[in-house]
Amino acid sequence: MAGQLGGQPIFILREGAERSRGREAQNSNIMAARAVANAVRTTLGPKGMDKMLVDSMGDIIITNDGAHILRDMDIEHPAAKMLVEVTKTQDDEVGDGTTTVAVFTGELLKKAEEMLNQQIHPTIIAEGYKMALDKSKEILKTMVKNVSEDDTELLLKVASTAITGKGAEGGRDKLAELSVSAVRSVVETVDGEKKVNGSDIKIEKKTGASVDKSELIEGMVVNRGRVHDNMPKRLENAKILLLNIPVEMKKTEVDAEINITSPDQLKLFLDQEEKMLKDKVDKIASSGANVVFCQKGIDDMAQHFLAKAGIYAIRRFLKSDIEKMARATGASIINNLNDISESDLGSAGLVEERKVGGEETTYVTGCKNPKAVSVILRGGTDHVVENVETAFEDSTRVVAVVVEDGEVLAGGGSPEVELSLRLKEYAATLKGREQLAVMAFADALEIIPRTLAENAGLDPIDKLVELRSQHERGMKTAGLNVYTGDVVDMWEEGVVEPVRIKTQALNSAVESSVMILRIDDVISSTRSAGEMGPEGMPPGGMPPGGMPDMDF
Ligand code: ADP
Ligand code: MG
Repeated sequence: MAGQLGGQPIFILREGAERSRGREAQNSNIMAARAVANAVRTTLGPKGMDKMLVDSMGDIIITNDGAHILRDMDIEHPAAKMLVEVTKTQDDEVGDGTTTVAVFTGELLKKAEEMLNQQIHPTIIAEGYKMALDKSKEILKTMVKNVSEDDTELLLKVASTAITGKGAEGGRDKLAELSVSAVRSVVETVDGEKKVNGSDIKIEKKTGASVDKSELIEGMVVNRGRVHDNMPKRLENAKILLLNIPVEMKKTEVDAEINITSPDQLKLFLDQEEKMLKDKVDKIASSGANVVFCQKGIDDMAQHFLAKAGIYAIRRFLKSDIEKMARATGASIINNLNDISESDLGSAGLVEERKVGGEETTYVTGCKNPKAVSVILRGGTDHVVENVETAFEDSTRVVAVVVEDGEVLAGGGSPEVELSLRLKEYAATLKGREQLAVMAFADALEIIPRTLAENAGLDPIDKLVELRSQHERGMKTAGLNVYTGDVVDMWEEGVVEPVRIKTQALNSAVESSVMILRIDDVISSTRSAGEMGPEGMPPGGMPPGGMPDMDF
């Protein structure tokens, strides 16, 4: 043991801290990240397999969604966690391509490992990967097709491609149609740029009918009915009051004791309470409101008075819903009944209670703001509706991305094969060692078509050879029809995706693999003294990770 000073070993880390360095650290990080990539690899593409996730409560989820799987897996290794973060970012930015980014990062790391074994320095690898990334973005620009917001047919294809493989194929056409209409309804032009705010689309889930019965409502749909049966069921020209305070008696802050000694006193007390509630309702009614959506509670007595005043009221309204309702109807959210003016009220053509899937539901249509839309998603069971919701959300995001960016690419492995070929040509023009990293990047891209083929039960080598030869002949959009096994034009096949899926995936994959490669020292001090062995030493008596590395 070196690193001794006057015969005493010097420890710079607390006992129990783990440390690994150099190739050992790199290897362990690369292995962990690749393990994550491998875990989701079999789910890629329309023919990908599903994963069954069982949580600690024993609840089961069956899913094919890379981000979802990784989110629910209890991953502990820090490098593996980084990869999970990457898929989350992809999900946030584009809503699709999560499996792609994990699989591609895994492959970049595998190639990097081979280069490390050939004594190529991580800095060179990182440099080469970045060069390949920049070149890829340049090449992608030449491959995109522009799409207008009015191109329904193309947008439907984009939505269908995103839904494929999400366990909601049964309702694919319906969901695609809803996604496109919903996005169209809420798109806005801000400073000359198209913007879609997903939260303008309100989703309600209801079981008890098939996906085909899902519908888009121009307006707001609320998962609640009237609080009192005597309230009107249907109101035209609704004047809507939004309250975030209860219509109840004020609870005293201090514990107060009321001594009632006679029946008269009790009556007086109750009368007074009644009068105070009546006052509150009078204030509401005199504002001109005939609909009240209250975020808090409404007292029984107040419900009765509201019903008498012909007001439609809902209580325990979700905070997020009340905010959406405010935007949709132009109402302000009121927190003091004493200052309601008519301009605080929102308006809607019709407020109506209907029964959907056995539940009372309030429909607010003909809203002041026509951009407010709701989607009622239907499905036979809770599990089905959950999957339908995920599929709808993802496809809506993807359609939104396409409408915002106005650009699409053909999918089915075609962009990866094209990029790979072009990058190899580019690599040949490079002189330094970076050339090897650019070549490795080009090879790594082929993991996508290869995996699509494997998951469809096709021979990946045959398919890659066929794909490459079609692309060599100039068929830039040749990809894999995973159903027939033929190499065909993905554009004609209708497999269309936003360009942002690819640019974001390439960016994140390079960023995270470079980050992982550049780590040559992992120091973890997770163990607290309490978890140590009996003599305050970790089991085995020495910090794991090996003493030699601790020397300096
Ligand atoms: P991700 O989580 O990365 O979106 P998916 O399981 O959705 O993973 O698979 C996406 C891949 O499947 C993309 O490369 C896409 O082009 C391809 N793909 C989607 N639909 C088809 C199809 N009908 N035929 C061939 N490939 C398809
Ligand atoms: Mg997808």
